[in-house]
Amino acid sequence: MRNLRIRSFTPEEEYVYITYSINNDKKEESKILIENYRVLLQKALDYLWVKVEKKEVKKGKKVITKVKITLPKKKEVYKVLRNELEKINVLASHYVDKAINDAYSILKAWRRRVEKGKASMRKPTLRKVYVRIKSTLRKVEGEGVRITVRPYQYITFSWSHKWFSRRVKGLELGEPVIKEDKVYLPFRYKLKWSTPLDFLSIDSNLYTLDAYDGEKFVTFSIKELYSLKYGMELKRSKIQSFASKHDKKGKELLRKYSHRERNRVRDYIHKFVNKLLEMYPLTTFAVEKLNKQEMFRDANENLSKKISKTVWKTVHSVLKYKAPLYGSFVKEVNPHLTSKSCPRCGWVSRKVGRTFRCERCGFTLDRQLNASLNIFLKMCGFSHIREIPRVWVGVIPLKGRRSVNGLSRDPGEAQGLRIRYKFMKIQ
Ligand SMILES: [Zn+2]
Repeated sequence: MRNLRIRSFTPEEEYVYITYSINNDKKEESKILIENYRVLLQKALDYLWVKVEKKEVKKGKKVITKVKITLPKKKEVYKVLRNELEKINVLASHYVDKAINDAYSILKAWRRRVEKGKASMRKPTLRKVYVRIKSTLRKVEGEGVRITVRPYQYITFSWSHKWFSRRVKGLELGEPVIKEDKVYLPFRYKLKWSTPLDFLSIDSNLYTLDAYDGEKFVTFSIKELYSLKYGMELKRSKIQSFASKHDKKGKELLRKYSHRERNRVRDYIHKFVNKLLEMYPLTTFAVEKLNKQEMFRDANENLSKKISKTVWKTVHSVLKYKAPLYGSFVKEVNPHLTSKSCPRCGWVSRKVGRTFRCERCGFTLDRQLNASLNIFLKMCGFSHIREIPRVWVGVIPLKGRRSVNGLSRDPGEAQGLRIRYKFMKIQ
């Protein structure tokens, strides 16, 4: 009986991170930090590299050679390495520990790639170095952060009067990352613990996300996002062929273009997901688990399919990351047979056209809506339901400016998407 007693408990606290970047306006001072840090990191890497053991292992009868790499044990080398680095160090001594840890993570990543056959046995080279500042080396002062380079020498970065300053008011700053041209500021805050009250299942299709919320079907148009991505993909392939002919100039162009493409798509997805989360707060979202292997199996799939898959993937991951802000969370559901089975009697149909028609009980519904219904059932655990809703809502996000109460909005703030609703009845 004692085991059945209800005990009070404190739910685990969860942090949500939101990262903003600002331009590095202290380039000269940062250069001292980054360059000196690079020296430390290179030295640590050189030191450890000599101690890395590389062995070829023959496996089984069909001689398959595998590489086994053993990194030196951190405990054994730490003290000596630390002393070595401290001799040449001009920065605060915390950076020495940081360099050792970073050198280890570079080697671990390299080992993973070698063992997968994706990297050569050569020593990994340092390209662009960035420095993540430990919490002991940074101090938040108002809307700015003071970073210790060495005792009594600091660099300060400020985010006051930036477009996001209002959003991060009262949030805690994590560990800033300093790059040559940019500074990344991860802000975090504690989540209030809540229980999702509603369910929404989402079936991802070429131009739409078809959802079911337990009462009605809701279709979100993602045509805009799709065509954004599609147009850009075509343009990118053109630039790619240009880049292959013009070495330096082409590379620069491609880099610039990819950057812009990423930003535009990301911007749209964030606004779209915001709208979705506003419409369904405190909700458990069920999406299909997108199987990577399945994706690569049909290698000759066309561009459309490829693009829509990447579109869903980003929508899913942004949704997953933002949902906790609205007290919601995302669950991934195995999509097996969701478009082929009957939600009423469980029959699995072999042939499914635009509409699903059950050969056993005669149940008929649009294929995409049917899939969302089945995902909903998978999540909520009922095997079948009696009443199928006949209400359908179309949600069409529209781009462009809008004004609130006749006043135009703060131009510094990101614009949201306008939404048009379409209500329909399914016969
Ligand atoms: Zn049926």
